[in-house]
Amino acid sequence: MKKLAIYPGTFDPITNGHIDIVLRAAKLFDKIVVSIGKNPQKKPFFSHAERCELVREVIDSLDLPNVETGNFSGLLVNYAKNIDATIIIRGLRAISDFEHEFQIALANRKLYAEIETVFLMPKESYVYLSSSMVKTIALNDGDISLFVPCAVKTAFKKKIGGKK
Ligand code: ADP
Repeated sequence: MKKLAIYPGTFDPITNGHIDIVLRAAKLFDKIVVSIGKNPQKKPFFSHAERCELVREVIDSLDLPNVETGNFSGLLVNYAKNIDATIIIRGLRAISDFEHEFQIALANRKLYAEIETVFLMPKESYVYLSSSMVKTIALNDGDISLFVPCAVKTAFKKKIGGKK
């Protein structure tokens, strides 16, 4: 049976840390669907449509034959069931991610016994990197080139420029 994995997240915006996880996952599973959640409770800076478009552009540029993008709202396990995914990929950075991720993984397993959450660690240089950090730097006129692909830099310019 083909191993279909979802890599879910808010991706507000997608960073080099997320990409690092996608590249690692692509080597492990038959197919990965990088899935952008709506997550309105997080009040994302980029709209769901903008995040989907950015992730699609970045993932397409990686040219990985077994990676595609998708999107969802509501419970992740319902989405996983709908697309027949049995694996959830999550990135694990510092200890601080652990408690939250552990709780979600166990809750998801209670809701859908067939789902398995797999944690992947990024390259050390991305361990500190988060979308929030990128937003703080970008919104204060800092340079985010080291942390995100070009498309994300352009998206910030467009969005912030439009607000000024
Ligand atoms: P969520 O709101 O679902 O946590 P994020 O976009 O913040 O969405 O993160 C999606 C996933 O990517 C999470 O598992 C998170 O731990 C992981 N992740 C985020 N940044 C990094 C990074 N720099 N290195 C590795 N994993 C990361």
